[in-house]
Amino acid sequence: MLDYTLKRSKRRKTVAIKVAQRELTVYAPHFVTKTQINEWLLSKQDWIDAQLHKQQIQADTRQFPLKTQSIKLFNEAVNVQFDNAARTQWQQHNESQTLLLSISSRVKHQTQMYQSLLEQFLHEKLESYIEMRVNDYCQLMGEKLPSNIRIQLYKRRWGSCNRRRELTFNLHLASAPTWVIDYVIVHELAHLKYLNHSAQFWQRVGLFYSDYKQASNWLNNHGMSLQWVFE
Ligand SMILES: [Zn+2]
Repeated sequence: MLDYTLKRSKRRKTVAIKVAQRELTVYAPHFVTKTQINEWLLSKQDWIDAQLHKQQIQADTRQFPLKTQSIKLFNEAVNVQFDNAARTQWQQHNESQTLLLSISSRVKHQTQMYQSLLEQFLHEKLESYIEMRVNDYCQLMGEKLPSNIRIQLYKRRWGSCNRRRELTFNLHLASAPTWVIDYVIVHELAHLKYLNHSAQFWQRVGLFYSDYKQASNWLNNHGMSLQWVFE
């Protein structure tokens, strides 16, 4: 049964409903019984649901705090614009510094959808960069290509490597400078030979990425600021 506030009035001759702030108010004359009101509401159920749904969408859109904000891609600021359109998609014209995220107004949870579109964009950019650099460094290091490369959101690791030669990279790296991403790539590729952090492992990292201390410091100092959060 629908939850509603009932307001009785002596002067009123008919029953009326109002849907505001996603709440239902029923105005009724004194002579109409509660059973009659409930029956009448039941006949209006579809209309009420449609109104509630519409207001939920408007509320979600309003809750979205900013019309534009900026994120970092490879340490460069990119303005993000949010828009309602017929199709849900991200667009970045000619590598411009503006990213347009469009979602359909029929999408119920708008903020989550913007967040997931933004992640799709960063995922695609980071993935193509990493694939290119893994190829470069595998040649340099005389290493066979990894069996698989995945990108995921991690809280406290930048990458990983396992015995099946699968590499994983943290999606948050998309906001780091490319020289830092290169370090993480060399680090994980060096694990293909040494699955530990022994002196030999670090020697191999240093052979192909001499500034590894600088890059690792950069991650320690800036790592937390790489997270993009919608608040
Ligand atoms: Zn490691």
